Amino acid sequence: MLWVGLTGGIASGKSTVARMLAAKGYTVVSADGLAHDVIAKGTEGAARVRAEFGSDVMAADGSVDRSELGSVVFSNPSLRRKLEEIIHPAVRKRAEEIRLECETRGEKLAFYEIPLLFEKKLESHYDRIITVTVESSIQLARLMARTGLSKAEAVKRIGAQLSQDLKIKGADFVIRNDGSESELAVEVDRVTSALLTNQTPRRSSN
Ligand code: ADP
Repeated sequence: MLWVGLTGGIASGKSTVARMLAAKGYTVVSADGLAHDVIAKGTEGAARVRAEFGSDVMAADGSVDRSELGSVVFSNPSLRRKLEEIIHPAVRKRAEEIRLECETRGEKLAFYEIPLLFEKKLESHYDRIITVTVESSIQLARLMARTGLSKAEAVKRIGAQLSQDLKIKGADFVIRNDGSESELAVEVDRVTSALLTNQTPRRSSN
């Protein structure tokens, strides 16, 4: 089985590609989703967040108040690191469990959607990497339409990320998402077919 990292800049179309892959029957795991799951109500992660950050970041029902937690760590790098020390190992463990489950079920491909794959230098965790990319004026328009951000704010968000060129250079497959969703679906088919034709693994770490 190939464990395939799916990445790309903000509003490039990663989630749209992820949805298309899931509709084709593939397992698609979201790193952001797992980061939520591992501190969901009742988890060990939630208990550790409470122990580390106190009851101020907990909602009345015992779940983590994510927006409060977000504002606590936002401007404090050392607290942010503490939170990452709780979340990241738990996410890695859960991702590896899911990968093994997919392998056991005999799936040929499974996908991991991870926006910061290159920023976090996680290339060695994947057998293949797909980068979704979009022409920058379309990216800006789609980001503004999706979020309601002003042009200046949207430009800032995009500028805070690694350039799309570097993500393209590091990828095995590049999906260009400048056209319609049906053109995107054709690209997704092209890439899945290519992935299926060479199943030699390459991953060197979990
Ligand atoms: P990402 O997950 O990379 O941030 P999304 O998949 O959420 O990006 O796409 C960003 C926005 O652009 C969404 O509102 C999505 O519906 C829209 N979008 C994505 N691909 C297309 C396309 N080919 N045509 C039109 N809109 C698109």
